[in-house]
Amino acid sequence: MSVDESELGTEEAHRALVEVIAQRHSAVQARITDAGGSLERTRVLAVTKTHGIEVARAAIDVGLVDLGENYGQEIERKAPMLDRPEARWHMIGGLQRNKVKKIARYVALWQTVDRIELVSEIAKRAPGAAILIQVNTTQEAQKSGANPDKLPVLLEAAHDSALDVRGLMTIGPTDGSDPAPGFALLRSLADNWKLPEVSMGMTADLERAVQEGSTMIRVGTALFGARPAAGQAP
Ligand SMILES: *Cc1c(COP(=O)(O)O)cnc(C)c1O
Repeated sequence: MSVDESELGTEEAHRALVEVIAQRHSAVQARITDAGGSLERTRVLAVTKTHGIEVARAAIDVGLVDLGENYGQEIERKAPMLDRPEARWHMIGGLQRNKVKKIARYVALWQTVDRIELVSEIAKRAPGAAILIQVNTTQEAQKSGANPDKLPVLLEAAHDSALDVRGLMTIGPTDGSDPAPGFALLRSLADNWKLPEVSMGMTADLERAVQEGSTMIRVGTALFGARPAAGQAP
């Protein structure tokens, strides 16, 4: 079998990308342990949103099998292209009800369930699916996520719909204030409801999240560099 030059170029580019991402992954792991965390306790979700499929492929080959996407149409486009059966796609962006059906077959974990209509739609399109309830822990009005006082109702609905509630997810404050109180709140809510998964922490605030007991940090920039603007991805 002959390998033409463009394929060779692609293979070389892939190897170079794997090397860069592996180094950055090591740096992220060092940040976790330097913050007093452990790599067994806190998993790294690689946020590939707006990056091309080659980035997702390289991430998998570094061992980052959990991939996060914000836009339903991006999961729809990328998931069938990714020739890596070990990949696990996580929906981490604001979710519209009418997008659930199209991506249901690809999503391993729905992280942004924050209202009853999403509970029913996911239960209908992906029976028994694993979900996280997204909680707005910072009381910022414009932010998605359920109010903490809505949690009991959502958990009950998810339970009644036979969804597998793995835990809770939150996004730190967007105004630059200390993320620790919101993270501590999410951790205490998860403990209270005996939920194992606590998804919190991103590139800028992962140390605080690790210190407050994050089981999954969602990291894009620290692994892949600055993102191309949404819609411009190849
Ligand atoms: C984009 C995004 C991330 C990753 O952000 P970085 O700052 O690039 O690490 C994590 N979580 C959510 C919900 C996001 O939208």
